[in-house]
Amino acid sequence: MNMKNDTTIKRRHKEIIEKECTCSVCGSKLEFAHFIDYGMKQVKESAVCKDCGVRYQIRNFALN
Ligand SMILES: [Zn+2]
Repeated sequence: MNMKNDTTIKRRHKEIIEKECTCSVCGSKLEFAHFIDYGMKQVKESAVCKDCGVRYQIRNFALN
């Protein structure tokens, strides 16, 4: 794992949050949640719509 890759992941992460901040079903603002899995060394990110309950699995990020 290198620094360049880490920077790319962080930039992509920011873009995802900015673009996918609304529910594609009802248009409400999504609530983001992060789950850190230390065993797998990953951050699992998901977004949930509080209005209609749709859950979006955004992406997993490696913690390296
Ligand atoms: Zn919704």
